[in-house]
Amino acid sequence: MSSAAGAGEPSSSSRPGKEREDGGEESNRKEEDQGTAVAEGDVDLELYGAASGWVEARTSCPHLSAMPAAGADELARVPSPDSQCSRCHHPSENWLCLICKDVLCSRFINKHMLCHYQEMGHCIALSFSDLSVWCFACDSYLDAQSILELRPVYEVAHLLKFGERPPFRTLEVLDLSSGQTGSSSLGS
Ligand SMILES: [Zn+2]
Ligand SMILES: [Zn+2]
Ligand SMILES: [Zn+2]
Repeated sequence: MSSAAGAGEPSSSSRPGKEREDGGEESNRKEEDQGTAVAEGDVDLELYGAASGWVEARTSCPHLSAMPAAGADELARVPSPDSQCSRCHHPSENWLCLICKDVLCSRFINKHMLCHYQEMGHCIALSFSDLSVWCFACDSYLDAQSILELRPVYEVAHLLKFGERPPFRTLEVLDLSSGQTGSSSLGS
């Protein structure tokens, strides 16, 4: 009878309320899990950024397709890192527009690279002072060492500025493997 059930569970009338509480707890738990996961990801990104010295450098950018394909002709157009600003002839620490290869001064001089972006929509530029790559549209640095589209021009700029290629581990591995393939085919 109902009296027996009532004796075993004195607060049977609170069942609907319990169910409601359970439902509420479940949704709370889901939110907590998502929040924890996001927080952990942020921590990892911050650690990597601090360790590599590239604070907030993006490893992807939706504007890379605006760059011309990095063929030999395009790479031969990369000017010397001590080129002057093409507008005000400021002598040093200029930016190279990676869309049209124009050399323009920084926002700390006469803002000609920024003007160029605002006038032409050319948003990706390489700094001749430290070879960092900035996307004006993303408002962020781009990681030239991990973005394949940026590597060739970064490598040419590094060669022009320092007289040697940058130490790309993955590219060196690629070079070694292709060299081994060539030598083995020559041997046989
Ligand atoms: Zn200028
Ligand atoms: Zn340009
Ligand atoms: Zn971008």
